Amino acid sequence: MPHPDVRLATDPDGRPRLIQYFSLCGVWAVTPYDACDLRCSYCITFSQGRSTPRLTTGVAATLQRELAALPRDATLAVGGLVDAYPSVEDELGVTRKVLQALVDSGRRVIVITKGPCVVRDTDLLLKGAMRVCMSLSTLDDEALQSIEPHVALPSERMAAVETLCAAGVDVTLQAQPWIPGVTDAESIISWANGRFPVSFTPLNVDSPGVARTQLGRQLNQHDINRAYLTERARLAGRAKVIWHKPLWVGTARRDKPSHPGRRATDTERRNLAAVGRYLDAFGEQAQFEALIGFISPYARLQDTTGHAGDRAFPQSGRAYDLLYALYDVFDSPAMQITLLQASGDAVDLHLEVRGVHARPLFDIPAGGHEACVPLAFRYVFDSRGLVLDYTQWADLDALYAGSHGASPDMRGQQVSREQPQPASGHRNTL
Ligand code: SF4
Repeated sequence: MPHPDVRLATDPDGRPRLIQYFSLCGVWAVTPYDACDLRCSYCITFSQGRSTPRLTTGVAATLQRELAALPRDATLAVGGLVDAYPSVEDELGVTRKVLQALVDSGRRVIVITKGPCVVRDTDLLLKGAMRVCMSLSTLDDEALQSIEPHVALPSERMAAVETLCAAGVDVTLQAQPWIPGVTDAESIISWANGRFPVSFTPLNVDSPGVARTQLGRQLNQHDINRAYLTERARLAGRAKVIWHKPLWVGTARRDKPSHPGRRATDTERRNLAAVGRYLDAFGEQAQFEALIGFISPYARLQDTTGHAGDRAFPQSGRAYDLLYALYDVFDSPAMQITLLQASGDAVDLHLEVRGVHARPLFDIPAGGHEACVPLAFRYVFDSRGLVLDYTQWADLDALYAGSHGASPDMRGQQVSREQPQPASGHRNTL
């Protein structure tokens, strides 16, 4: 059963849609074939199978209709869900029809493939705003055949890239997935020699499809990411080389505690570690401290309400060591983390604060309200760094409606070491 994100879309009448949003990768995927006969062992899109065209007639009209509903500046990825050039494309030419229609629409298009057949469409690729992303994890024939037994050899794909480049097509070599012990990053970079961009992304073995494979059983995401970061550091500074972020993904939602104040379970600690590793991977200790600086007022509330004594936070150490320490503080009757997870560029932190509350939270007057208040924070990494994307105080507002004014609107505020600080002037102990 495919992941809901990668199930091919149909319109309300049950006819195949050629374009759908692929949220796992954040692109509009254009899918000419209903399955991929290249059958890579690490495929995350659940799309392997016999490739048959989704539409054989009316391709241009269908695309025109679907494109009309999309933002004008949307980037379209042909091959985002199913390779743009499965083996049968040579004979059937459905992808060519799709490319022709996209060229006519003037849209920005990425063509993602492992198929040398892409060279056939050089004329179209030169007409529009098109880029070809050729996937190639290693230049080693034997190593590649063990994971991509039905795909063209490295030498054939390298020849295709050379031909496209020589013709003036915009090409990127997608050396992904980067697989420890398989991907020879240095050889790939040397071959590219700055003539076209090379991008690396580590293998995702957390994907349910991959977890069941031999690779998924042999490797774990933590070790892959560590090896990837080491390789990235070793080969840093090479021209036109992009190292995408490692895939630190904590996915499981924390169960409700069976009773307040219990210790974290192993699963919860693993989830927390996943979030910490995610933050750690950015190497942004200062930003991580900013995050802690933001939530530390709540830690102080916990102290104030007497449910926990003073805690010594580590003065240094890796981000996830600090998160562990925070976890211990929060996991108490006064304050509990109900969700802490990282996904893509976002980190979600949900807390429940119990006890006597007042606004601001860290300034508790006598005779305050006894309540349990859920708080939700979302942090995202964008060009400014770690940013507080939104925070949800709805229940707190309701609790104090009419007597204490509106809650602070912190949407989009940058989280930094300086802000926000609690009204009492308390600074955290980091
Ligand atoms: S070429 Fe892409 S879509 Fe096809 S099986 Fe391989 S990874 Fe999956």
